[in-house]
Amino acid sequence: MNKPRILFWHRKDLRIFDNQALIKAFSLSNAITSIYIFDKNYSHDFNTSSRAWFLGNSLQELGNNWEKMGSRLVMGEGDPVLIIPQLAKKIDAKFVFWNISIEPYEINRDLQIKKNLKEQNIQVIETWDHLLVEPLKIFAGNNNPYKVYGPFYKNLKSKMNLLGSYEQDKVGFQFKDIDNKLKDKTINSSGSVLEKFIKNIKFPGSNICPCRPGENAAETLLENFINEKKIYSYSSARDFPSHNGTSFLSASLRFGTISIRKVWNATLNLNLDLDLENQGNYLSIETWQKELVWREFYQHCLFHFPELEKGPYRKKWDHFPWRNNNEWFQRWSNGETGVPIVDAAMRQLNSTGWMHNRCRMIVASFLVKDLICNWQMGEKKFMETLVDGDLAANNGGWQWSASSGMDPKPLRIFNPYTQAKKFDPICEYIKYWIPELSKVSNSELLNGEISNLEKNNYSSPIVNHSIQQRLFKSLYAEI
Ligand SMILES: Cc1cc2nc3c(=O)[nH]c(=O)nc-3n(C[C@H](O)[C@H](O)[C@H](O)COP(=O)(O)OP(=O)(O)OC[C@H]3O[C@@H](n4cnc5c(N)ncnc54)[C@H](O)[C@@H]3O)c2cc1C
Repeated sequence: MNKPRILFWHRKDLRIFDNQALIKAFSLSNAITSIYIFDKNYSHDFNTSSRAWFLGNSLQELGNNWEKMGSRLVMGEGDPVLIIPQLAKKIDAKFVFWNISIEPYEINRDLQIKKNLKEQNIQVIETWDHLLVEPLKIFAGNNNPYKVYGPFYKNLKSKMNLLGSYEQDKVGFQFKDIDNKLKDKTINSSGSVLEKFIKNIKFPGSNICPCRPGENAAETLLENFINEKKIYSYSSARDFPSHNGTSFLSASLRFGTISIRKVWNATLNLNLDLDLENQGNYLSIETWQKELVWREFYQHCLFHFPELEKGPYRKKWDHFPWRNNNEWFQRWSNGETGVPIVDAAMRQLNSTGWMHNRCRMIVASFLVKDLICNWQMGEKKFMETLVDGDLAANNGGWQWSASSGMDPKPLRIFNPYTQAKKFDPICEYIKYWIPELSKVSNSELLNGEISNLEKNNYSSPIVNHSIQQRLFKSLYAEI
């Protein structure tokens, strides 16, 4: 009997290895046609030059991997609500497989596609893949979703020891791609749609962005982080932006060029190898696991509370009298505020498409609490620039920084000068990204008192932190 034909739709899972829906599909049949669609209604994947670069290169590698296994990756562009049912019909697919997505737009889109496919008698099989634990399998008391990170982490960690199943041999698949019916303007076989897309990418930071596209590069990033023992010093190095002490896996996890299970399991294997003398290392591994769980937490929050996408979780923030001074916002965006740590960070973002986590918190606090601009302006700027720009993580990070999210601590204000003293004490990071300050003494830089002679066209601070902090607190008191 002929094996049923399957259409496999890649979304945020641009890999073959440990791809849960693909493993399931393959267990049913090897007559699989795979597709990626440049969704005209969902441009988050490619509407910035950095993410377009990451996506285009990851797709190219994915297409090559499919070809090596005797099949191919088809490219579509347009509306998946139309393309998926059309293609499924064209190739006579009996099943369509995909991994579940959690963003509000994606959930609604997928519902519509399921309905259309049902009318054609084609079955959809959806699988969880992007998360360690399915959102409907972990709850706080009274079966309510978690709103606080701490207890979420504890519960999730207790479930984690049972993980397995990612040990799928990536060269084990052999596909049987038999259809030749894919000659269509919106659909083509890894060829011209992707070529055109890649030709149009204009990302000047491709050589210096620390995140690297593709499945192979993601595995190398993970190996380097583990084998070079960066993971053992993570808890002490991770807050220093000049130390390169983090994994740079954020874009790989965002686009699914690596599986979150593989990343988590790498930490479990290390735990097994540790002896009692190395308990410090154990703490460092746990600190990294906690960061992976922040990613998980924000995804669960967005799944359960889709309204987060539109505005503050704490409704009182709807009434906050933001100043939204456009000139200040532009200066912040361009790294020209006159506050060295803020400007260095924004210049890192604009040049490389990536910014260190400590600096993301500093610049977010500065925009919201010093410049008194609505945090959504910063959220948008980050989404327009970050290579790892992800709705859940970015929204979570901004709401955390603005104090408008699901965080029990009500008001958190960072002093950018104190932060620089603590986390860039010899100004390596600042001087790297603001070369015009390279001759200024560290103490002047850290105290924000750069003498006019040394300034080299670098501007004075656009605001005074103490004054703005008082103003912000008084405005906050009103709400
Ligand atoms: C205002 C703001 C906006 C942010 N926007 C994004 C975003 O759009 N996309 C994104 O992936 N991360 C975002 N983060 C979280 C964090 O800054 C990045 O994940 C991290 O800097 C990526 O570097 P890394 O891969 O070397 O991380 P590592 O320190 O090696 O951490 C490992 C992984 O854990 C996850 N992670 C770490 N910290 C966080 C966190 N605080 N929240 C959620 N996940 C985390 C990431 O997937 C990361 O790759 C944001 C943080 C803030 C404060």
